[in-house]
Order: sequence, then structure tokens, then C-alpha cells
Amino acid sequence: MMQDKMISEKANEPLLSIRDLVCHFPVRSGLMRRQVGAVQAVDNISFSVAQGEGLGIVGESGCGKSTLINTILQLVPANSGNIIYDGKDVRSMSRSQLRHWRREVQMVFQNPFASLDPRMTIGQIVEEPLVVGKSGLNRNERLKRVIETLEMVGADSRQIDRYPHQLSGGQRQRVGIARALVLRPKLLVLDEPVSALDVSVQAQVLNLLERLRHDLGLTTIFIGHDLSVVSYVSDRIAVMYLGRIVEIGTREEVFKSPKHPYTQALLSAVPSVKKNNGQQRVRLKGDPPNPANPPSGCRFHTRCSYATELCSQSEPKLVVGSEHAAACHFK
Ligand code: SF4
Repeated sequence: MMQDKMISEKANEPLLSIRDLVCHFPVRSGLMRRQVGAVQAVDNISFSVAQGEGLGIVGESGCGKSTLINTILQLVPANSGNIIYDGKDVRSMSRSQLRHWRREVQMVFQNPFASLDPRMTIGQIVEEPLVVGKSGLNRNERLKRVIETLEMVGADSRQIDRYPHQLSGGQRQRVGIARALVLRPKLLVLDEPVSALDVSVQAQVLNLLERLRHDLGLTTIFIGHDLSVVSYVSDRIAVMYLGRIVEIGTREEVFKSPKHPYTQALLSAVPSVKKNNGQQRVRLKGDPPNPANPPSGCRFHTRCSYATELCSQSEPKLVVGSEHAAACHFK
């Protein structure tokens, strides 16, 4: 059994591997703006995403998931750690290697109302990455690619000369997805891509993303605060709390047998899950602590119903590499 697992892991080499990634923001005070602390937005995070796999990262607002993505995408500098993409260390890439890498890794943003330039037509918005990314395609080839990509995401290619304000929220997000796919990336990062949309449109966009993931063999990282939404397009789920991953496992494992009390609390807020397994609602106590001054020991102990003295003194570790792991002393 163990050997089978090792063989399948080897066959499924990671496209992206994050090791001990740290991103702290200095907190300054006084006339001299001396550093008096640090917001531990991303604190020693490690995980891998295999080729073609969908990883979901879920957590409350402020848990560090957006900073984690920005750090991986080199939009925010990391303090330490490794970001290995297709066997290469992204943090030590040259400018030209980084330019090439950015073509393979694209992002879909949360708010299609803000992320599309209102002065550009739909055609120009989707074409722009081909021009900026030096795709080598001529004008006609670019137009053909733009139309193909709009059709791929179910957008009406006759809208190519329209402006974003003339489209509905769902149509705009399809344009945002087309823009991210036009360079044919290998890794697509989705930052809460449906949270700004009406509930009725959310399901359509989630179905589209799941279809594209399978049809194009895309590797995806989907971040969000709603476990049921994130799990819809994810094979594995990582749960983040206060700058750390506290649980990671397959979608089925996390849903059927959540190990960490924080995951249990997130899950019990999903109505369909409560109905299925009859679990009592697990309520979170209080607000998340300040990430500039996280609690000692287990960072969750101030809100955990099962906390003991040990929890406030000793920090539970997440065993990286095991299939379903949780950072809790009692799991
Ligand atoms: Fe709760 Fe303690 Fe487990 Fe942390 S280590 S999740 S405080 S039981």
C-alpha cells in the first residue's frame, strides 16, 4: 500500500513545490519608524501541487492566503524559503527566466468589475497579454487566439468590440478568465473568483472552471473563504489559520473526516455537510488574534474548544508529505 503511494507520487511530479516559505511585514512605530514587530502573514508554509491537480486554499479573511499567493507570484518578496516551479527555483531566476515563467502562471482576480480596464474593449483586454508577453503571434493570429479563447470560456466572441461596463458580472468574469488563459498557461491561480458574483452566476462560473481544468489539463490554485466553493474545483484542500497551514488533505478526507478543530468549525458552517453527517455546529470563539502578535503554542488555542495547557505552551507541527495531516496535538 505504502509502496503504491510512493510510486503514484513519483509519477505525479509536482509542478509547484513550496518549502518553508516566510513572508513577514515589519511593524514600525515612533518618529524614527523603528521596527517594533512583524506581521507574520506567511509563516513557514510548505506544500506541493502536482501537474493537473487542483489545490484549494481556504481560511478566514486575514489568514494570509492572499499574501501567500502574492509571495509565490513574486509580487511580494519572501523573507526566506523556496518556490520550486517545474524543477527551477523561482526566487533565483534571472529576469528573462522570470518573464518566461510569468507567461506560464496566470491569475484570475476576485473582482471582475475592478480588474478589467474600462477604457479597453473586450478584444483589447484579452489580447493584451499576447502583446505584453511577446507571444510572437501576428495581428491576425492574435485575433484568432482571442476569439478561440473567448469561445472556450463560453463568452460571445461578437462582444469583442464592447466595453466591460456593457457586460454582466458573470460575462465580465468570463472575460477575466479568457485573459488569463490566452497565453495557454500551465498554472492558473484563482483569487476568490466568484465571491463578487451573484449566487446564481457563481455556479455557472464554478462549472466553467472545473470543465476548463479537466479539458486543458490545467494545474490550479483556488483561494477562498468558503470551503464549499473552494472544494468544488479542488482535488486537495489546505486550510490556513493565522499564516500557517493547519490541515491538508484530499477533498474527500477533509470533508468526511476533518482532523483540525478549525476545519471542523469551517465545515460545520456549510449547511449540506451538517445535514449529511449530523455533526453539531462547532462555533469559533472570538475574533482571529493579531498576526503581529500570534498566541504562543498552537495559534488556534485562544479559540479552540478542546485546548489544554499543552496547547498554549507547545506548538503542534504539520507533518509535510503525509496525505492527510493536521497541526493539532490530539490528531
Ligand atoms: Fe485545539 Fe490544542 Fe489542537 Fe490547537 S493543538 S487545535 S488548541 S486541541
